[in-house]
Parts: sequence; C-alpha cells; structure tokens
Amino acid sequence: MAVERWCGRMECAVRVLVTGGAGFIGSMLVRELVSRGADVVVLDLLTYAGRRWNLSGVPHTFHRGDVAVEADVSRAMIGCDAVLHLAAESHVSRSLGDAAPFFRTNVEGTRVVLDVALRLGVERVVHMSTDEVFGAALADEASGPDAPFRPGNPYAASKVAAEAVVMAWRHSFGSRAAIVRCTNNYGPRQHPEKAIPCWTLAALGGGPIPVHGRGTARRDWLHVSDCARGLADILQDWVPCASWHLAGGDVRVNRTVAEQVAALCGGHDLVFGPERLGQDRVYLLDDSLTRARLGWSPRVPFTTGLAETVEWYRRHQADVWRGAER
Ligand code: NAD
Repeated sequence: MAVERWCGRMECAVRVLVTGGAGFIGSMLVRELVSRGADVVVLDLLTYAGRRWNLSGVPHTFHRGDVAVEADVSRAMIGCDAVLHLAAESHVSRSLGDAAPFFRTNVEGTRVVLDVALRLGVERVVHMSTDEVFGAALADEASGPDAPFRPGNPYAASKVAAEAVVMAWRHSFGSRAAIVRCTNNYGPRQHPEKAIPCWTLAALGGGPIPVHGRGTARRDWLHVSDCARGLADILQDWVPCASWHLAGGDVRVNRTVAEQVAALCGGHDLVFGPERLGQDRVYLLDDSLTRARLGWSPRVPFTTGLAETVEWYRRHQADVWRGAER
C-alpha cells in the first residue's frame, strides 16, 4: 500500500491531506511533506488566519472548504492515503470574546474529519493538539502524554473536546488517529495577532511593543520547521502511540522575548497593558518519549530562529499586512 511504502521512506507516490494547510504551521508542513515526495492536498476555509499566499511557490492541490462540512471534507479527502488535521480556530484572545466558532471548527470539524476518514478507509490521521490542554504547569512540572487535562481558556477547552472526540472514535470505531501536542510555535508566516509577529511588526513600525500584564508569563518556543518535521516524522514512522509531544525545550519569560525582538529591531520601548483573562503562567511538555522513540529533537536554536523570523517580517511587512485582519 502506498502509504506504507512511503512511510518506510521508499520512493512512492502518496497523497496526503493537510487541513488548515494555508495557515502558519500548516503551510510549513505542506513544504515539509512536498520535500519528502508527497502529493499534498490542502483543505482550508481561508478564514482571516489562512492565506493562499502562505503557499505560494509550493506545489499542491487546493480545496477551499470547511472542516465542519462533510461534503467539503469528502471532496478533499477522496484518494488520500493519510490526513494531517490542523484546521482550527487558534487564537486564545478571540476565544475569550466568542467561543462558538472554536467549538464548531475545532470539535465538530474533528468529528467530521474522523468520520470521513473512516468512511473512505484512510489509514492514518494525525490530529494536531496543543500544550494548552494541560493548563498551567503546576510547580513547573512538565506534562507527560497521560497528564490530566486542565484547560484554562475556551480555546484550550475546545482542543480538549477535540482530543476527547479522537479518543472516543479510536475506542468505538477503531479510528487510526494519533494526537500530537506541541508548545508555542514561532517562525515565518504566523498571523500578526500572535505574540512574536505582533511585537515584531509593532517595532518595525516604529511604535512601542505591547505586552500583556507585566510580561511575566513564560512559554516554551518551538520553531515551526521543527514542528513540521516532527509531524511528518510521526506520520511516516507511525510507531504505535496514542499521543506525542513536541517541545522546543527553550522556556522564556515573555518580557525577555519582547526585549529581544526590540533589540533586533533597533531598540524600542515595551508598553504594558492589562493581563489577558485567564492567562496561564507557564505551559510545559515532556517530550522525552518522542525523542526516544522517533529520534526527533528540535534543531533551530531560539536565538537564531528569532533573528531569522524578525528578518523575515522585515522583508515581508507589506505582504503580511495585505489582507490581514488587524
Ligand atoms: P492558524 O490560525 O495559523 O491556521 C489555522 C488554519 O485553519 C487557517 O489557514 C484557517 O484558514 C484554517 N481554518 C480555520 N477554520 C477552518 C475551517 N472551519 N475549515 C477549514 N479550515 C479552517 O493556526 P496555526 O498556528 O497554524 O495552528 C495549526 C494547528 O496547530 C491548530 O490546530 C492549533 O490548535 C495547533 N497549535 C498551534 C500552536 C502554535 O503555536 N501556533 C501551538 C500548539 C498547537
């Protein structure tokens, strides 16, 4: 079977569907899969967060459609050997204002993807989740794959519910689906609403850099190319495992990262606003199982990746703002 030969790293045509492939991580993942010889099909609704521009120059078949609509998912999934399901509403601050689209896309969308994959006999589904399902790390202890869920915001709650769907579909219907949780990604093509692009674009525009609260929350940073490589490895190796963790292993205080961005942009002030509702102090994932069983580890050091990211935004400022909802 094509997927098994390709997953055994043999030259072979395999067709992989990436939902949310026009988004930040999805568009890097499409590049990674194409570089491994896959035919990639993208299903993306092109919400405010997704853009065809993110995939310019990358060979792929594109379907504009909604993961929560069965006909759209079927149309894109027919003929595919595997699915990487990344489509989601992904911004915590938006979920605090209106959680409804998060539950529709993230939960119902996951149910639809799994049902269509079962109906079409697709053998491998990788479902993308987040470190936020575990909430703030207690006593700075990193969460292993079986840690209890403690979502701290509506986005995280929707991702917990999506994981619950995956678990139930595996148990009830034998869905062959793996869950991947990762820490904060950064890198090129991230929407300007997210922290590092927001700070970078503010600084490049000459303004102060807006930071939530006193900037004391900490995050673990994973370069998007390392995340994409991890997702492709998980799909190709297909080692039996219910859930995988991908972490950058580089935990930093937000304020320090904002100061690094300011320095890279020639020096700018930070301006401290109100703390975000439900802000979690720190998220930490234990990814030792992924490292041991797949031999995966991040390759891009944060300082190098951050400098390259800032440079990318410097070069693409106009493109990034074009069509982006502020
Ligand atoms: P993103 O917001 O950049 O991209 C999401 C993509 O999904 C967009 O292209 C959007 O148009 C598309 N989309 C949204 N609703 C859709 C729908 N109903 N039907 C089809 N397409 C739809 O998000 P991202 O940062 O690339 O995140 C990708 C995945 O990774 C998400 O599942 C997210 O929860 C998860 N994740 C992200 C991070 C991170 O740091 N960015 C960390 C952990 C997990």
